[in-house]
Amino acid sequence: MIYPRCKADHDQIYVNAEGYLLPCCWIGNQPHLEEYQNFLGAELYESCDLKKVNFANAVNGPAQKKLEESWTSTQPFSACKEFCSRRLNQEESSSKQGTNERERLTLS
Ligand code: SF4
Repeated sequence: MIYPRCKADHDQIYVNAEGYLLPCCWIGNQPHLEEYQNFLGAELYESCDLKKVNFANAVNGPAQKKLEESWTSTQPFSACKEFCSRRLNQEESSSKQGTNERERLTLS
């Protein structure tokens, strides 16, 4: 079971220095990035390239769908299994909300 932290509070994304839209920073960096590229295949990975596709198409695109389908399969994507196979407990959730609130206050 996956409890996706990228969806826990509000949808989160990560855009790497090459302009690819990725679901989170764990997947956006090695060693998981290369594994994610292999998981998607070249065509789907290119559908995340914001230099070639618009944001809405990338964020709701087939790459994200394939990742999300893995969450309910018997073989979730490895990074998701590693980082998000445990439900956030109340303390972590409260702490996360506090962090988000601080971030919102800092940004406003
Ligand atoms: S590891 Fe997977 S489930 Fe966890 S935040 Fe990243 S994309 Fe979402």
